[in-house]
Amino acid sequence: MKRTELSSLGEFGLIDRIKEKFTATHPSTVRGIGDDAAVIDTGGDHYQLISTDLLIEGVHFDLTYVPLQHLGYKAVAVNVSDIAAMNGVPAQITVSVGLSNRISLEAIDALYEGIQSACDAYGIDLVGGDTSTSRSGLVISVTATGRVHKDKITYRNTAQAADILCITGDIGAAYLGLQALEREKREFLENPNMQPQLDDKSYVVGRQLKPQARTDVVHDLAEAGVVPTAMIDVSDGLASEIMHLCTQSGVGATIFEENIPIDDHTFLAADEFQISPITAALNGGEDYELLMTIKQADYEKIKNLPNITPIGYINADPKQIDLATKGGNRVPIQAQGWQHL
Ligand code: ADP
Ligand code: MG
Repeated sequence: MKRTELSSLGEFGLIDRIKEKFTATHPSTVRGIGDDAAVIDTGGDHYQLISTDLLIEGVHFDLTYVPLQHLGYKAVAVNVSDIAAMNGVPAQITVSVGLSNRISLEAIDALYEGIQSACDAYGIDLVGGDTSTSRSGLVISVTATGRVHKDKITYRNTAQAADILCITGDIGAAYLGLQALEREKREFLENPNMQPQLDDKSYVVGRQLKPQARTDVVHDLAEAGVVPTAMIDVSDGLASEIMHLCTQSGVGATIFEENIPIDDHTFLAADEFQISPITAALNGGEDYELLMTIKQADYEKIKNLPNITPIGYINADPKQIDLATKGGNRVPIQAQGWQHL
């Protein structure tokens, strides 16, 4: 029997392979596999959005340093981020948990406090889920629904040449937060009496432990009367998301290194860990910001919005996806997102 290692396909190759085997049969299935959320036409002037994410202990989080409250919040926020990436507003979630016997009732209470606080923050109802034992640590799966007006939906594959590429907030911080937490863990294991030294890392650690979905930006865009031509959330790092957006839209892009928004705390932490801040921004991931393209004609409407930064533009050549460095060079962008498999 032939045996193929999953690593030969990678995560994205595997998803493509699954996608190829299924064809949608319902006219209501507007968009299935391949975007941040599935899009369902339930009639009326809005689409229904559905997104799901799975978090596994030891793969996506480490309970030695992730407080359960934060984990609960994050599990919801990452799904809301996918709804926001469709320009949508979240509505309901279901939460399924696999629990090992290491988890106490108090721990579950803390997890659900975090989930509740995210439900409050994003205006979401928890409407169901499933509960099981797990033999391999804690597993959390959240499914979120949302809605978006049919005229305002933003897909990944509709970026157009000459559009302006913009990103929300700042990026790279979550990856450095993870480095800080991992270092603390190593030092703690070597010397359990030590006190945590994370005071000056609170920004980057906060970005790792408690990411916020940019529902505020979805709101700001609506106020400004702008519908991006395409949008995706930044879960795997800017490089990977730019590649998705460009490949699926059949276009290229140039981003300018000097325009990439990186917080001062991120620069400081990058310096300490001897990681290039631009590498953290491009390949780090877990920032949960929104990467979008907008028509040039809409630039005036967004230019004064505080949370949106233009970082480059889209071109017609799908082979030209590059970074214009501060030194004046052009470097091809390569996706180095998560390779879990
Ligand atoms: P995101 O990072 O935005 O959550 P993913 O990279 O996880 O997106 O998924 C990309 C697309 O592939 C989504 O449409 C998602 O629903 C779909 N997908 C991922 N894993 C599977 C799977 N095992 N079976 C079917 N579809 C999947
Ligand atoms: Mg996404």
